Amino acid sequence: MPEDIRTADWDVIVIGTGIGGGMAARRLSELGLSVLMLEKGADLGDTPSGLPMNSANSPEERLSAGAWPQPITAELDGTSFPLDGMIGAAVGGTSLYYAATLERPERHDIDHSNERPHPTGGWPVSHKELAPYFAMAEKYFHISGETDPLDPEAAPLPYPPRALSQTDQNIIDGLRREGLHPYQTHMAARFIPGCEGCFGRRCPKRCKMDGRSAGVLPAIESGRATVLDRCTVTAIEAGDSVTAIRCERDGEEFTLTARAYVLAGGGLGTPALLLRSRSEHWPEGLGNRSDLVGRNLMFHLSEIIALWPGKGNKGDTAESRSISLRDVYYAQGTRFGLIQSMGLNAGYGEVLYAMQGRFDRSALRRLRPLRHGLRIPARMAAKLLGPAKLFVGVLEDLPYAENRLLPDRA
Ligand SMILES: Cc1cc2nc3c(=O)[nH]c(=O)nc-3n(C[C@H](O)[C@H](O)[C@H](O)COP(=O)(O)OP(=O)(O)OC[C@H]3O[C@@H](n4cnc5c(N)ncnc54)[C@H](O)[C@@H]3O)c2cc1C
Repeated sequence: MPEDIRTADWDVIVIGTGIGGGMAARRLSELGLSVLMLEKGADLGDTPSGLPMNSANSPEERLSAGAWPQPITAELDGTSFPLDGMIGAAVGGTSLYYAATLERPERHDIDHSNERPHPTGGWPVSHKELAPYFAMAEKYFHISGETDPLDPEAAPLPYPPRALSQTDQNIIDGLRREGLHPYQTHMAARFIPGCEGCFGRRCPKRCKMDGRSAGVLPAIESGRATVLDRCTVTAIEAGDSVTAIRCERDGEEFTLTARAYVLAGGGLGTPALLLRSRSEHWPEGLGNRSDLVGRNLMFHLSEIIALWPGKGNKGDTAESRSISLRDVYYAQGTRFGLIQSMGLNAGYGEVLYAMQGRFDRSALRRLRPLRHGLRIPARMAAKLLGPAKLFVGVLEDLPYAENRLLPDRA
């Protein structure tokens, strides 16, 4: 570990360099503070994704591919099973692999009102207080797209809409004819010439805006921030306030101190570290006298929909993440979430897979020979209709106390 990092007088130590930690480090260093970022994974530089992050098996292989080293064990209704949490562990965190769709929250996502009651009674900060920060984030992330035509408070986006393919335009026209309100998806990318559309994988051109390209690198460019990669924070030492953090790097253990600390280890890494930071003062884990740390873990449900763009588009296999709609975002007094294109196509194999899934859940499932027969309608659909564009309906989960994270002993 470089000696100057250990002895420097840091204003802030930021743990984790995903979107949360990267952006905190950027803003704090821009405001003139000295910032040390600590990251468990490596800085993979501007390399494109090699192995898919989940296919590497040993902890070392997973970490070198930018994935969290250990898979998670999940327990659902009393049954345990291994789960790949799809968590990134690298400079940039999970956002190195994210799809870069950053949509605006609506007022009722944050505030409670009689017309649109909030399921938890509302956030402790209001939408109005957060609005300037949403606007700042949209600039940092270079967000382009169109405003939602159903948004009563629509403000322009910092960057203009992109040119759409004819297929996307046809889908938009078709949705409008059905009385729906599509708009161009809000994307965090600069769409530079030669953009490879790395939505779901690492971008080698700093075109996609993620925790590294929009956060860590601009922070370092300020001259006031440094990143120490391959450094795991193993515990936070604290009485009534934090006194030091314990780290491990290349087998060496050491402690670091700063005037303030930002814990941005992600939805699983943050509570795991707090729960592991036990002491006489905090026997149940740091900040956990309430038994709330690690609870209220939220997920989202995804329902995949295939849309065929219609005649004249059979050859268009370009993958674009470009269409969103919020017609059922809040409908009939209920929140249903948004629908957006996934940037994926579906052909014969995907259609067959979906039909087999439906068959396996149906009353006909014991008639196995019929299952083989599904190949015929699937092939006909793929031939007649051409590739479908996949859309996803995303419904946010509620913070149930029993959905919780517990750290293992590692
Ligand atoms: C395939 C995929 C696509 C997605 N697409 C979208 C999308 O289009 N739009 C969207 O809004 N969201 C999307 N998401 C979700 C989004 O990527 C995450 O919500 C977001 O990146 C989380 O950022 P974070 O900073 O909170 O955590 P993370 O990105 O998980 O960062 C936490 C970092 O902290 C490090 N860390 C943790 N613990 C320690 C420790 N003890 N010591 C040192 N370092 C530590 C980790 O290694 C990691 O790098 C997607 C996710 C996936 C997997």
